[in-house]
Amino acid sequence: MAICSFCGNDIIKGTGKIFVKKDGKILHFCSTKCEKNLLKLKRKPIVVKWTKLFKK
Ligand SMILES: [Zn+2]
Repeated sequence: MAICSFCGNDIIKGTGKIFVKKDGKILHFCSTKCEKNLLKLKRKPIVVKWTKLFKK
């Protein structure tokens, strides 16, 4: 099972998205919401409240 590179939630097999960066790093996303936040908005998971990596 993969874990979302942004929010840290488990991704059920057959769902979610895989994104390969130019440097060869593979990112997994549970939803387009997570994909957008990381790739488009360039947010860090630790500052986004709804991720598992968020630190108070
Ligand atoms: Zn996610």
